[in-house]
Amino acid sequence: MALTITNLSKTYPNGTQALKNVSLDIPTGMFGLLGPNGAGKSSLMRTIATLQDADTGSIMLDDIDVLHNKEAVRRVLGYLPQEFGVYPSVSAEELLDHFATLKGVANGRERKEMVAALLHQTNLYDVRKKHVGGYSGGMKQRFGIAQALLGNPKLIIVDEPTAGLDPQERNRFHNLLSEIGENLVVILSTHIVSDVSDLCRHMAIINKGEVLLTGDPISVMNNL
Ligand code: ADP
Ligand code: ADP
Repeated sequence: MALTITNLSKTYPNGTQALKNVSLDIPTGMFGLLGPNGAGKSSLMRTIATLQDADTGSIMLDDIDVLHNKEAVRRVLGYLPQEFGVYPSVSAEELLDHFATLKGVANGRERKEMVAALLHQTNLYDVRKKHVGGYSGGMKQRFGIAQALLGNPKLIIVDEPTAGLDPQERNRFHNLLSEIGENLVVILSTHIVSDVSDLCRHMAIINKGEVLLTGDPISVMNNL
């Protein structure tokens, strides 16, 4: 599994050019997209996640032409946006069970096992009966990962994940990402250098809509 982005450009209707000829090769594993606020990270993440269109360029996820096969991409995509929506007063266990039903897992016992495994993996098993709306920021992030993994994704996009998390939660979240990054393409968008240097095998630096450097974190940091 790999993502190939070629000459992607995007100008918003107000004239802001958010992406300028962005080209990137993103292999399996954790990929860090590092850049300051306004660099174009969210614009790129939303485009890969099929939530907005580009003006020119292409994105290939293996042999799927992402910009022209949105349904196919959505079937294999887990997207964790920066802002979480409002959660109903429902427990994590019930919500995941509900999402599994929506995914077509009709067998109750199969759902129960699937949900329990995800709750264990994301360290939420002990709080599975609590309402997600009452979770801390870090717990909500981990719940987001559980929800994303439910669909068996091949690509996971995480936008500014550790903003507002305390150090312990940040660590937990990092460990969880490293674990799932072993078999999937995980793109982590952040303005925090250590998020990338601690976790990612490959990275790019983006600023003012342009890719400045790309490679492994050590060589990129040495070239700064
Ligand atoms: P980042 O995620 O790195 O902070 P964004 O992709 O959110 O960067 O933004 C890149 C640039 O595009 C910024 O100048 C931002 O203000 C602008 N921008 C983002 N979304 C829109 C939009 N919907 N309409 C107009 N300008 C936008
Ligand atoms: P980020 O923190 O990723 O840069 P923002 O807070 O800039 O995101 O953007 C939040 C929302 O506002 C997004 O939906 C984005 O498209 C929109 N937005 C950002 N900048 C602008 C802008 N200059 N004009 C219009 N919409 C914008």
